[in-house]
Amino acid sequence: MRRWIFATLSAALFFSILPIDNAADQPAGASIDEDVVKHLDSIQKELVECNQDIWTYAEVGLEEHRSAARLVSILKKAGFRVKEGVAGMPTAFVAEYGEGSPVIGILAEYDALPELSQEIAGTRKPAKGRTTGHGCGHCALGTGAVGAALAVKHVYDKHKLKGTIRVYGTPAEETLIGKVYMLLAGLFRDLDICLHWHPGSKNRTYFSTSKACVSAKFTFHGIAAHASGSPDKGKSALDGVELMNIGANYMREHIKETSRVHYVITNGGGQPNVVPATSQVWYYVRANDHTDVEKHFDWLKDIADGAAKMSRTKMTMTIDTDCHELIPNEPISKLVLKHLKKVGAPKFDDADRALATQLQTAIRADFGLKETNPLADTVDEFPKTPYSDAGSTDVGDISWYVPTGGLSAACFAAGSPGHSWQNVAAVGSPIGHKGMMVAAKVLALTATEYLQSPTALNSAKADFDQRMKGRTYSTIIPKGQAAPKSIR
Ligand SMILES: [Zn+2]
Repeated sequence: MRRWIFATLSAALFFSILPIDNAADQPAGASIDEDVVKHLDSIQKELVECNQDIWTYAEVGLEEHRSAARLVSILKKAGFRVKEGVAGMPTAFVAEYGEGSPVIGILAEYDALPELSQEIAGTRKPAKGRTTGHGCGHCALGTGAVGAALAVKHVYDKHKLKGTIRVYGTPAEETLIGKVYMLLAGLFRDLDICLHWHPGSKNRTYFSTSKACVSAKFTFHGIAAHASGSPDKGKSALDGVELMNIGANYMREHIKETSRVHYVITNGGGQPNVVPATSQVWYYVRANDHTDVEKHFDWLKDIADGAAKMSRTKMTMTIDTDCHELIPNEPISKLVLKHLKKVGAPKFDDADRALATQLQTAIRADFGLKETNPLADTVDEFPKTPYSDAGSTDVGDISWYVPTGGLSAACFAAGSPGHSWQNVAAVGSPIGHKGMMVAAKVLALTATEYLQSPTALNSAKADFDQRMKGRTYSTIIPKGQAAPKSIR
């Protein structure tokens, strides 16, 4: 009973600050919006538990079995039709509710990162029993997306809306695989609008570009021999890898400053007294647009060929994925911002600010962090030009086919770097829960508006058509290649 009174009061407070024009012009829409928010408040406990579970599982890409199953079970219980194991990936799924058009999609991600095990603590403290952690906050991302879909389903039934709401369970975002292969499998073909969100350290609409990126592995094949007794009878695959890396590091100076090349050696041989017969290096090549990525990657392949020649080894290459830059959509971004302003920034409390302040300490000491606020408690205004995200996201590929937009909600300490232990701690704490609930509300309100407004749909499509003029989606993934079974 007490809880009911609290929910009613908070809903009343929330709607007392709604812009009057919306409430006056669209009484039905306003009551639908109210129901969206009320429903999300009513299922907050369940969503927080789900975020906590996926945070604890911390499964890396293509291994997110428990995480995907956790989200699927919530969706099935709510009456969604779910297809699991789509596009040849056991942890990919599509969940759907309703019938016909428009079809509004919401993207869910749930993969974690290696080497980022961390407890919910203000200082560095790896969690026992795992080496991985949600340094990008995808536990909250997936849970918030599913929460949004549940709220849309609730008002869909109650207000007899038309159209289809769909949740895409997209694995392995960190290696830019899930959505790319789901797209190539045709799963986004009939989508009208695609919505997404990402935990961040700011509250803002995702009117943004991102970097295109190719991920590929170069394996060098040599001949093993005793490294001291008969090195003249061996050919070192590791020499091939090292020479390739030297070449790539020379190339780096002569590509655009905004381009990025990074690698890890996934196999450097067995032990020093055996000339390595096999060695492998894994590369990401990024640029602000896909055309540049193609050029850089051609150069890198020549370098790999050269390294094989120099080391008298053979080189084979596999392309894991080819990801495109994000195409921003102004009308969607503006609609998202309208709803984000209504919902407002997360309401952080003193405990949240204390944790965030502690998380910032090491960043301040090591990297000279300038942020004075512990957490973002305001919503950013619409930017004059699109933000440029220095990372990559496979949401980018979807945005080449479907008008796509979303938001970032504060789930991390202000100014904290991506893929950091600080972010693991924050997104598993009430800071992350609060950001996630804001995002779920904004996504649900935006999706609901697109289900009801053909005008809004048309303007998103017109913006998309305009931006896609002169662009053709091309991929260097070999035709018909199946999604990788594992990343490592
Ligand atoms: Zn991410």
